[in-house]
Order: sequence, then C-alpha cells, then structure tokens
Amino acid sequence: MDVDFELSPQETEFRDEVRAWLKANAPKDQDGDVDMQTFIDRRRGWQRRMFEAGYVGITWPKEFGGQGRSFMDQLIFNDEMILAHAPEPINVIGLGMGGPVVIAHGTDEQKERYLPPLLSAEEIWCQGFSEPNAGSDLSGLQTRAEDRGDHYLVNGQKVWTTLAHVAKWCMLLARERKETNPRDGLTYLLVDMESPGIEVRPLVQITGDAEFNEIFFKDVKVPKSQILGQAGGGWAVAMTTLLHERGTLGLALATRAQITVSNLADRARKLGRGDDPLVRQKIAQHSIEARALQLNGYRAVTAVKRTGIPGPEGSILKLMWSELNQRMTETAMEVGGPASQVGDGDGWKYQFLRARANTIEAGTSEVLRNILAERVLGLPRSR
Ligand SMILES: Cc1cc2nc3c(=O)[nH]c(=O)nc-3n(C[C@H](O)[C@H](O)[C@H](O)COP(=O)(O)OP(=O)(O)OC[C@H]3O[C@@H](n4cnc5c(N)ncnc54)[C@H](O)[C@@H]3O)c2cc1C
Repeated sequence: MDVDFELSPQETEFRDEVRAWLKANAPKDQDGDVDMQTFIDRRRGWQRRMFEAGYVGITWPKEFGGQGRSFMDQLIFNDEMILAHAPEPINVIGLGMGGPVVIAHGTDEQKERYLPPLLSAEEIWCQGFSEPNAGSDLSGLQTRAEDRGDHYLVNGQKVWTTLAHVAKWCMLLARERKETNPRDGLTYLLVDMESPGIEVRPLVQITGDAEFNEIFFKDVKVPKSQILGQAGGGWAVAMTTLLHERGTLGLALATRAQITVSNLADRARKLGRGDDPLVRQKIAQHSIEARALQLNGYRAVTAVKRTGIPGPEGSILKLMWSELNQRMTETAMEVGGPASQVGDGDGWKYQFLRARANTIEAGTSEVLRNILAERVLGLPRSR
C-alpha cells in the first residue's frame, strides 16, 4: 500500500504558522556547560512560551488545556522543532507519561486538576517506579501504601528518580497488599512532593550533574483522591505509563535523533572534517538510521490513533534511539579528537557521557529486546 506523505492544505497552513513562530521564538542559546538550575529555568520558560502559543499538549483534550488537534499536527510540530533546532520543554516526564496516563485512567476531576499546570510547566512531574531491589523486575517493589481509611500512609524508598528535586507530583507505584502474583495488590498514587515525610537526595551521574535522585518516604499521607485507576490495580496503570515512556516519549526521541545528526554534520563542517569520506559515511549512516527511526515513530502513532495507547512495538523506538544516540555521540567525540574531552567540548562531552545511561533508563536494551521477541514477534518466553 502506498503511503501518502503529502500535507493537506490545513496541515500546510499549520506547518507554516509553526515554522514562523519557531523562527521568531526558539531559543538560540545552546545549553553547553550551564549549571542545572539555569538549565531548568531556561527549559521551564521555554515550555511556558510554547504553551502560551498553543504548542504543548497538541493532541490533548481542549477542556483540560490541550489543543484537541490531530496526531498529524503533532508530527508536523515535531518536524518543525527539528528544522529550528529547538530545545525540548522541561516537563518531559509529565508530557510523555504523566499527562497521557491521567488522560487514560484519571477521573474528570483529576484531569481538571493535573493537566493544565503540567502543560504550562507550572508543575513538573517525576516517575517513582524503580527501587534498590526493583528495576527491570518492577513487580519486586517494596514501598508500602497502607490503607488508613480516607488516605494511605506511604513508607519506603525509590531510586533514580529523574527531576524529583524540582517535581511537584510523583507517579508512585506502591504495594498495598501482598498477593501470590506480585503484580496484584499494587496501587498507583499521585504524590505531592511537598508532603511532609518526603526526603529527596540527589545522585551525581557520570556527567557530574545530579539529574536524578533517591526519594525516601516516611509516613507520608496521600489522600485517596490521588489514586490513579483502581486501588490494588496499579499494575495496569503502570503498564500504560511504560508504554507511553517507550512509545510517546520514543517519538519525541526520534525527533531528537534528527536534531543530533544535523548538529553532528554542522560540527564536522565547523572542524574542517566535512570532506573526510570516513566521517561523511558515518554521519550519512546515522542520518539514515535517524530517518528510519522517525518512520517507525509514525507506526507508533498509528497504534495510538487506533487504541489511544502505544503498543509494545513502541519499544523499538526506545531501543533503536538509545543505541543510535550512543553511536552518534561517539562519532562526535571522534570528529573532535582528544580536544572533545576537555573543556565542554562544545557540549558534546556532556552528551557523550549522558548517552551511556540511554540503554539503561526506561528499560534496558536487554529487557526491551525480550519484550520485542515475546510480545511483538511471538517468540517463546525467556523465563
Ligand atoms: C538516567 C536514568 C534515569 C532514570 N530515571 C528513572 C525515573 O525517573 N524513574 C524511575 O522509576 N526509574 C528511573 N530509572 C531507573 C531505570 O528504570 C532502571 O535503572 C532500569 O529499569 C534498570 O533497572 P536496574 O537499574 O535495577 O537494573 P537491573 O534490573 O538490576 O538490571 C541489571 C542488568 O541485568 C539485566 N537484566 C535484568 N533482567 C533481565 C532479563 N529478564 N533478561 C535479560 N537481562 C536482564 C539488565 O539488562 C541489566 O543489564 C532511571 C535510570 C537511569 C539510568
């Protein structure tokens, strides 16, 4: 079947409008070697401007602050972000997972409460799933949510929680009851990070930044109005979250890969390596893979259009992007030679180091390959 990539007249009009807006508004400053707080402030301000112009939550319902537009419009917007080399908004976890999971499982009151400030970057979100003894095997988690009538009392520890140090809301997966199947009896709570009893301790990464944290919960009161989905039925809500993490967020990453490859080509030209056939071949190969990734992203969009939730094939996006991103940042270091490793290396040193975590966060490559083998290709289960 032929695929029609031509835009309709309305889509062309939207594209032109977005293009003009991004040309006038996209921040020119690259993040380079700025400190964490400056980075967060800049990205928060940038999301606010995008939101005010109507470009955040493009496909989300209008009554909750979104734009109610089509997925095609979202793709057009993503493509224009690539052309403009525009940075991502701050609330990546909220936009990629928090909002979609509230839209899928939340009550109308919850949608009204949580979605608008998430879109405007007034409230940042984080994801409290992983624990010291529960990563790939999430169902091994031990943080407890004890039923106390109108509220839960939460005790336990989470780890690797990105943005917890600036977040207002945490998507917390906790154990309410012990059941034979460890996936049963879990409850998904939206926890106010300003609640008494929460302690956030930053963890420094290989980059030198502390982008993620440990969170300790000691007798933290969480009202039952903050349960997402059914009490004891948290596993299903968590799976929706992960499908979005790898699918919706994966689509944003597919966009980012094209920005990275075009920045890489600029770097090679700037350093006088643009005529080197080996460098050209490498960058061309990255470019082909980035484009293939984006086309796979369109498949994920088709799944979302049909069911409202990305399918397990969204794991392809995360898997391909993480490994491609590592290769691209390695090429960037090769192109710059040893000088890339000193100073800020035009920002590439940071990206190179940060990319090491890509094949661990949001599901390791091994785990994603298992998911693709078993749930997409229907191969026998590994265990
Ligand atoms: C930068 C970064 C940000 C993160 N942000 C968050 C966040 O915001 N919120 C959050 O909840 N978590 C976050 N995480 C945690 C992340 O989800 C986990 O690190 C990840 O799921 C792996 O879990 P683990 O670290 O416990 O490793 P383990 O699960 O202990 O895995 C160790 C090794 O064993 C392999 N392995 C495990 N099981 C299998 C299997 N069945 N088959 C084959 N190989 C297997 C893994 O691939 C890996 O190589 C983040 C991690 C990073 C690096």
